[in-house]
Amino acid sequence: MVAPSDPRFRSTRHTHKIVFINTTRVTDFLAENIPVVTFNFTDFRDIINNGDDTWLIDVIGHVIERDALRELNKNGRSHKLLEVGLQDLSGNKLKCALWDKYAEELSTHLINDKPDSPIIIILQLCMVKSFNGKNSISNAFHSSKLLINENLEEHREYREKLMMQAGTFSQSISQISTHRSVGISDDLLQTEHMTISDLMDCTSERSVALLAKVVEIDCESKWWYPSCSTCFRKVDRNGVQFYCEKCIDNVPAIPRNRIQVLVFDVTGSISLVMFDKVVTEIIGKKVADILGDLGKVILNLICL
Ligand SMILES: [Zn+2]
Repeated sequence: MVAPSDPRFRSTRHTHKIVFINTTRVTDFLAENIPVVTFNFTDFRDIINNGDDTWLIDVIGHVIERDALRELNKNGRSHKLLEVGLQDLSGNKLKCALWDKYAEELSTHLINDKPDSPIIIILQLCMVKSFNGKNSISNAFHSSKLLINENLEEHREYREKLMMQAGTFSQSISQISTHRSVGISDDLLQTEHMTISDLMDCTSERSVALLAKVVEIDCESKWWYPSCSTCFRKVDRNGVQFYCEKCIDNVPAIPRNRIQVLVFDVTGSISLVMFDKVVTEIIGKKVADILGDLGKVILNLICL
């Protein structure tokens, strides 16, 4: 069966996907011209800055820190979780969460492999996750492929470059600190700092931290917008429903915050928009809770 691709976590760039259903028949076919392993690696920097979860991606890196293998209960089922820190050849660092068989496999390597040799992993078709404004990767249920220190050309090439950088690899894998949740202050410390005048001159899209004082809240502009319940983009009215451009479909709409503020620092002033996550963190309430039933009424009225 052929169906349109999902809005998130697509495994290919194709607009459609093949779905295997009960009546699908599969037969063996020798297709020598289809390569068994191909990778299309995404840069750590892209993942850190953009965190686009439209597609499943491939990454390559080496383990620099690890947490203990943990057992968690999720929806009544027991799961294994191993969180590690990866680094790429440019020194960018990325958190990676591996579940169940993937966690066990890497854990075995961490125990058995030579301590002075790097553990290079390729995670094919993994998910980009965003939490507290930080992007990380994780295996995509059972569809990811984890390749650790294999004799593949990609592993060999990576190892050679890594060895050339470090002379000999001497970096040991450290334990991830026990602070599990990343607070705003930690987050800010790890993000590039800018002043308002830096922001004005900045021509590239990236995440930065700005320390500024709010001097005015724009009460004239709308403080919330109807958003897609799946991807949180702004949705447009489509007859009696709402249409999401990213999901390419009519979707249920939920209200989300957007508050325009004027801020200043010693270098100038600028108008910024605070979106839902930030506003909720400041006022401690979700817009849907503030609007209550009124939200549904207003969303219905927009549709009329
Ligand atoms: Zn959407």
